[in-house]
Amino acid sequence: MTLGNAQKGGGKVWLVGAGPGDPGLLTVRGLRALERADVIVADRLGARAVLDGLAAEGVELGAEIIDVGKLPGHHAVPQDAINALLVQLGRDGRNVVRLKGGDPYVFGRGGEELAACQDAGVEVEVVAGITSAISVPAIAGIPLTHRGVATAFTDATGHDQIRDLGGGRDHTVVLLMGVGTLAHSALILARGERGADCPVAVVEDGFGPRQRVTVGTLASIAEQAAARGIRSPAVVVVGDVVRLSPYAPAALATLDTSTFDPLAAPATSPTGKAHLS
Ligand code: SAH
Repeated sequence: MTLGNAQKGGGKVWLVGAGPGDPGLLTVRGLRALERADVIVADRLGARAVLDGLAAEGVELGAEIIDVGKLPGHHAVPQDAINALLVQLGRDGRNVVRLKGGDPYVFGRGGEELAACQDAGVEVEVVAGITSAISVPAIAGIPLTHRGVATAFTDATGHDQIRDLGGGRDHTVVLLMGVGTLAHSALILARGERGADCPVAVVEDGFGPRQRVTVGTLASIAEQAAARGIRSPAVVVVGDVVRLSPYAPAALATLDTSTFDPLAAPATSPTGKAHLS
């Protein structure tokens, strides 16, 4: 049996979802935890931008900040070491916020950090965040479900076995960590019920300074991504809901793909409201 927090007189760890990077999309509960924290263990994606944004708004946090940020393919601090750090800080009696991009439980390894704290008898609480899977499409004007257009959505990563993902264009697919595998994912999804002319949007750096929206089809998106130098972080959205985006070129908005030239598409600025045919 492990010792509980009360017995240790220890601190507490809050696993806080920072949202996609805009301080306005941090929860009030998350902000309260940050204000109470002695130490903040921060990720790179989302978390860092929120801390910088709060500072720019004049919100002063007294906490020490430990950056454990990970670049894609570049694990600055291994997960085991992060778990051990949280446990140690908690045992030292500190109030710790583990600030994670988006939501801690959506491809965020929050469950592992929770378990590490619980196993060590360190008090721990999860504060949900706004996941990029939903908020980044939203900033591009894409609802994941829409009456008469899509009734379900699936969130997966570019590394998953999306081959077996069922459903048609009315079942939206959201891919995180999907830039490196975009061409492969598009090919697999095009072979299924969705078809090669199914609309796709890639939203890079949502809420950030490099925010950019590229709209195409499963057939065209890999070429567009290469031509435009699409980079991580980005959210990929596949399905008919993409037609609702103001960034969808008119031809794609009506699904008249015969006149759609992906490389000519002026996808950095809205081309007007999309129409459903
Ligand atoms: N827990 C996070 C996801 C972590 S996985 C969440 O709930 O949002 C990291 C992936 O999230 C990135 O590869 C990218 O696909 C996506 N992502 C996170 N923030 C993003 C942003 N601001 N813009 C675009 N994609 C983002």
